[in-house]
Amino acid sequence: MSRSGVKERAARGARVPEPDKEKAMATAEILSIDRTTNDRPTNDRPANWGAPDSCMIATEDLWKTYDMGSEQQVHALQGVNLRIRRNEYVAIMGPSGSGKSTLMNLIGCLDSPSKGQYWLNGQLVSELDDDELARIRNKEIGFVFQTFNLLARATSLHNVELPLIYAGIGGMERIERAKAALASVGMESRMSHKPNELSGGQRQRVAIARALVNKPAILLADEPTGNLDSQTGKEIMALFDRLHAEGNTIVLVTHEHDVAEYAHRIIYIKDGVVARDEVKER
Ligand code: ADP
Ligand code: MG
Repeated sequence: MSRSGVKERAARGARVPEPDKEKAMATAEILSIDRTTNDRPTNDRPANWGAPDSCMIATEDLWKTYDMGSEQQVHALQGVNLRIRRNEYVAIMGPSGSGKSTLMNLIGCLDSPSKGQYWLNGQLVSELDDDELARIRNKEIGFVFQTFNLLARATSLHNVELPLIYAGIGGMERIERAKAALASVGMESRMSHKPNELSGGQRQRVAIARALVNKPAILLADEPTGNLDSQTGKEIMALFDRLHAEGNTIVLVTHEHDVAEYAHRIIYIKDGVVARDEVKER
């Protein structure tokens, strides 16, 4: 058909074959199928890359964009793909500003991704609203922070009881469980102390007891030794080692190599993506 013939038919409303456009559409369709079924052929996925709902943590193309107003945006995460299995002990490292805390906040259900999917313990949580996220967080996540984040005016016992109060657990059971959690981190003799009556290491132990008291699926720690002297840091890391040996799944952020050495796997984040993933021989 001549060019003018095509134009004529188009003008009359007939369908004009457009091979390039059809090809582009077919390609787009294949790409979108690929995304949803997660079997696109890439080299960066190990052979044991599990189905997302069979892992403790699974993310697919996870993005977090912060809107700073006046059309300014920060792409803190730019497509993170992760698989972490039950009872893994993972350290996350990377330069300042690379997105480590943002990733921890998403994994810890403190925030929602801008794009992409996140499964926690078999459940797709990236679609949940804030109330549902809060429930999941209380049930599945234990969080430990660099600055401990204890209630200043509350005793150790009360600080550890708090997650149980949110979970709706009644008086006697609550106290028994909080006491047991404090005992498990060696703090049974400091139950009625307030944070300012405790050393940094003791405060972090109380914070770890609080993180564990709901028996969460994973323990997340963002620079847990960042505010501690090196000897106290070692004691806290020995505690994490024991918790891992007892079956806990642990993900911690650190910028210290000797802290990361305690973990069995190190994930390096750079510019909002996984730059390297090293699993150590056991
Ligand atoms: P890291 O923990 O690796 O130092 P972050 O996850 O804190 O990095 O930050 C990643 C990027 O996102 C940085 O550029 C930071 O400035 C930006 N960022 C983090 N939190 C916010 C926020 N609440 N609002 C805007 N930008 C943020
Ligand atoms: Mg950080």
